[in-house]
Amino acid sequence: MEDALKQASYKLMTVVHAETSTGVLQPMDDIARLAKEYDTMLLLDTVSSLGGIEIKADKWGVDVCFSCSQKCIGCPPGLAPITFSDRAVEMVKNRKNAVRSWYLDLSLIEKYWGNERVYHHTSSSTLNYALLEALLLIHEEGLHVRFTRHLKNHKALVAGIEALGLKMLVDEPYRLPTLNTVVIPDGVDDLKLRRYLLEKFKLDIGGGFGSLAGKVWRVGLMGYSSSADNVLFFIPTISRALAVQGIKTDLSAGLDAVLTELDGNGIDAAAAEAKKVAAA
Ligand SMILES: *Cc1c(COP(=O)(O)O)cnc(C)c1O
Repeated sequence: MEDALKQASYKLMTVVHAETSTGVLQPMDDIARLAKEYDTMLLLDTVSSLGGIEIKADKWGVDVCFSCSQKCIGCPPGLAPITFSDRAVEMVKNRKNAVRSWYLDLSLIEKYWGNERVYHHTSSSTLNYALLEALLLIHEEGLHVRFTRHLKNHKALVAGIEALGLKMLVDEPYRLPTLNTVVIPDGVDDLKLRRYLLEKFKLDIGGGFGSLAGKVWRVGLMGYSSSADNVLFFIPTISRALAVQGIKTDLSAGLDAVLTELDGNGIDAAAAEAKKVAAA
C-alpha cells in the first residue's frame, strides 16, 4: 500500500478490516498510520469484525466505518451500523455535485436522523428492537470478555487444526479470529467433504472464493457461534470427514491441543480482570 501511495496522490483508501475471503485481519495500526502520513481519507469495512474484534475507529482516524447486524453482533440481517468522521460529514456537505444515488445520499440521511427530520426511508422498527437486544447481550457479556472469547476459540481451533497435521492459510499475526481459513490437503474432494459435513453432522463450513476456490475452507467463529463447543465439534468431524476420503489425521493430538488451549494460559484471568474493570 505504501508503494502505491508513494506513486500517486489518493483521496480515499478503502480497507476490509476482517477479510473474510482470505481470513486476514488487516494490521490497522500500520494502515491508519499510512493514511495519516499520505493524507488520504480512510473507509473501513468492519462487517466481520464489529462485535468480535476491537475497532478503534477514532484512534485509527477512520472516516467511514460500516458494518452489518448479522455477523459478530448476532442479530437478524438488514441493518448496517455506520459512522462518519467530522471531516467526512464536512466533505459531503461541501459537495459541488448532487449525490447520484438516493439510497446512499448521506446529506439526505443526515437530515433523516437529525433535527430536521426530513423523510428518507422507513426504517424497520422490529430490526431496530432486535439490534437493541443484541447490543444489550453484548453489553452484558462485556466487550473485552467478548473479544477475548473470540480470540481464545480461534486459538483453540488453530491449535487443533495444526495438531491434526493441517495448515492455516494465513501466518501469525495476520490471522482473523472470526473467520479461519484452513488449507485443504492435497487429494481431498472439497465439495464432497463439505456435503458430508453438512449431511452427516449439520456442520456448514464455507468454501474458498476466486483463486482460493477448492484450496481453503472458511470456518466461521462469529458471535454466538464462537464457542468452545463448536471448536470441540469441528476438530473430530473434520478429522472424520478426511478419514472418509482416506486421509489420516491425528485426532487425539488435535483434541488434546484444543483442550490445552481452552484450559487457560492466562487468557481467562485476563478476561475476568477486564470484566471486573468494566463492572467497576
Ligand atoms: C459478509 C461480508 C460482507 C457482506 O455483508 P452483507 O451484510 O451480506 O451485505 C461485506 N464485507 C465483508 C468483509 C463480509 O464478511
